[in-house]
Amino acid sequence: MNAPLNAPHPQPARTGGKIMLVGLGPGSHDHLTARARAAIAEADTIIGYVTYIRLVADLLEGKEVIKKSMTEELDRAIESLERARQGKKVALISSGDAGVYGMAGPTFEVLFQAGWTPDSDIEVEIIPGASALNTCAALVGAPLTHDFCAISLSDLLTPWPTIARGLDAVAYADFVVALYNPKSGRRTRQVLEAQRIFLRHRDPQTPVAVVKSAFRPKQRIEFTTLEKMGEAEIGMLSTVLIGNSNTYVRDGL
Ligand code: SAH
Repeated sequence: MNAPLNAPHPQPARTGGKIMLVGLGPGSHDHLTARARAAIAEADTIIGYVTYIRLVADLLEGKEVIKKSMTEELDRAIESLERARQGKKVALISSGDAGVYGMAGPTFEVLFQAGWTPDSDIEVEIIPGASALNTCAALVGAPLTHDFCAISLSDLLTPWPTIARGLDAVAYADFVVALYNPKSGRRTRQVLEAQRIFLRHRDPQTPVAVVKSAFRPKQRIEFTTLEKMGEAEIGMLSTVLIGNSNTYVRDGL
């Protein structure tokens, strides 16, 4: 049963511990928000995937830095909670936005399992950042002007049939699509399967942009078509934008 809205809230003394879920944006300091920068400055402990730590290495002097590998998501969340319980201010960093295929979900799962509520002694703040779909779109023109969606092709935690069903539905519904996690060293089949599903509903000439490492030193932009996207250079640092039936390319945009 819900307590009446005006009931006094039990306010346990806060330990001062805090978890900040920081979205770094694409990776250049110019696109790091002022709040993200301040949150990193405020934190005494920084936890994140090695690549993301590297992106902000110059802002981390004097802080405890805990590097984790890609697959240690839950570990990162558990470690954050433990540190926050000790009264630490922890910045848990993600590329792009922490809520988009990032650390926000796993962190809340760990927190809720530990009995945490927003009133409890650990404060949680989410600091939004520009996600790959925003930053990659900005480099190729205005591909997201109408309805669009994001689909991650990573089937490590989501069964492929579920992903394939989503691809089929949005291809049919003529959404512009941003494909996250399109391909990695070991996962090479998914992007070809996505192409095959899209070709069932869309013109082979539909514009496709592959943006790698947006706003990072190794940025690379490649325009292709749905028919030819299988030949494009796609990797785990790429986002693939597939246009809809109204998308066109003009003057390299
Ligand atoms: N939280 C991140 C997404 C993490 S999933 C965000 O909001 O952007 C990792 C995927 O994000 C990568 O496989 C790639 O598809 C995309 N991505 C993240 N940063 C990128 C960048 N700078 N350029 C291109 N794609 C990027």
